[in-house]
Amino acid sequence: MSANAHLSGPAFAHIPPWVLPKLRPMAIEKIQSVFDWVENECIPREHVMEAQLESNQWARPPVMLELRAKAKEQGLFNLFLPHHFKESPGLTHLEYACCAEILGRCYWASETVNSHAPESGNIELLAKFCNDKQKEKWLRPLMEGTASSAYSMTEPDVAASDATNVGIRITKDGDEYVINGRKIYGNCMWNKGLAFYIMMGCSDPENPNPWERHSTVIVPADTPGFTQVRNLNVLGYSWAPEGHGEYTLENVRIPAENVILGPGKGFAIAQGRLGPGRIHHCLRLLGQCERAIELAIMRCNDARFKPRGKLIGEFDSNIERVAQMRLELDAMRQITYNATETLDFYAHDDKMLKSAGKKSIAQAKILVPATVEKIINECMQLWGGQGVTNEHSPMPKLWAYARFVRLADGPDAAHRHQVGRDEMKKAAEITERHKKYNALAASFAEQYGEKIITMPEDSL
Ligand SMILES: Cc1cc2nc3c(=O)[nH]c(=O)nc-3n(C[C@H](O)[C@H](O)[C@H](O)COP(=O)(O)OP(=O)(O)OC[C@H]3O[C@@H](n4cnc5c(N)ncnc54)[C@H](O)[C@@H]3O)c2cc1C
Repeated sequence: MSANAHLSGPAFAHIPPWVLPKLRPMAIEKIQSVFDWVENECIPREHVMEAQLESNQWARPPVMLELRAKAKEQGLFNLFLPHHFKESPGLTHLEYACCAEILGRCYWASETVNSHAPESGNIELLAKFCNDKQKEKWLRPLMEGTASSAYSMTEPDVAASDATNVGIRITKDGDEYVINGRKIYGNCMWNKGLAFYIMMGCSDPENPNPWERHSTVIVPADTPGFTQVRNLNVLGYSWAPEGHGEYTLENVRIPAENVILGPGKGFAIAQGRLGPGRIHHCLRLLGQCERAIELAIMRCNDARFKPRGKLIGEFDSNIERVAQMRLELDAMRQITYNATETLDFYAHDDKMLKSAGKKSIAQAKILVPATVEKIINECMQLWGGQGVTNEHSPMPKLWAYARFVRLADGPDAAHRHQVGRDEMKKAAEITERHKKYNALAASFAEQYGEKIITMPEDSL
């Protein structure tokens, strides 16, 4: 029997072989528990969840509350928070990756275990950057699941993918800060469980260093002057009960103690906030994509559907289509798990985290949402008309999630730009190396008595 025989069940079926030896016994146990949780408690309750949401959109449905209480009791809360935080339940980024992918199989399963967006990114931000007093007030309720939070960076009047453009004004006034401006996309205030917003704004517009002009502050949802104008439907869905709001802030006053890490640290905090959030979205998308492919394979082999007398899965074009999906999903998994491994590997090396960590996360963010969107689109097509209606399949909503993650936490174009720009920065070093090859080529030619003809333009 192989040493890894205990890892051969369905909970571990998609985990790349290089990951398996890195999983500690407690992680193996958690992955199995998360798998059982999603299979037995979440997926079979999807219809009940939909029905309860229809009767009351802007509050957590009773079934969600029940599942959250049960998950907390079973020790499944906050698994995403990596082991180097003292508040962490103990998994590494890579170990959580295996859980997050499984959670992604059901759109809302992450919320049952308090590991959903934007909460997971917000909890990590607060754990990383808050002082003890702030942690007690803001982090603890999030981790215990008694309050929820929003993240608010994007604005309607600027290109927010470049955080230096964020323009809402945060002005010091005695022991308080006063905020004025507009925001879009932080979670919906109509949900009364939403306690506060972690908001980035411009506190020092004249600072010559554009990366020190911003601050990140905590704004309680019930602060006077903070108004939600509407909920933004995204691709036809309200995404209740979290939603996505559009806001005005008019003379909103918060105490100075609500500034995180200090004035001028907003840009640094945004960078720290968005990395883990991006990777969690990508991991969930892998699970969604796996589920969509399963649905496609079922349909391809369903004897009720036989165009031209053949199963849909008997057409060569569809066999190849499914092969391509499998190839692309497995390739995405390597890139995404590699990003989590990179975060673990360089956890105590800030410089490498900023370069290798940032690059590997950007690679996943470029590849995964766009590819998952394409694959789910193909899966819907294999289901014919029933593939694009929510009444017959979950795929339209799975597709919409992948589509919006191409934008949420930064558009893929911005990440592509960053990765490409960093590659270009290697030009001098690469050119130098190639010059050495040329010099050595001449000396080797002489050593072997070979005549090599080089044109002047061949040499660097
Ligand atoms: C469903 C959903 C949920 C969201 N949730 C939140 C949230 O909770 N909190 C929050 O603050 N924001 C949230 N957002 C907003 C999201 O993060 C922004 O929409 C995103 O970062 C892009 O910013 P922008 O809309 O200002 O677009 P812009 O910055 O104006 O970019 C527009 C387009 O310009 C192009 N572009 C931008 N940069 C480059 C580049 N470097 N190279 C080439 N082309 C480029 C791309 O095509 C890009 O899509 C959410 C968005 C969606 C759709």
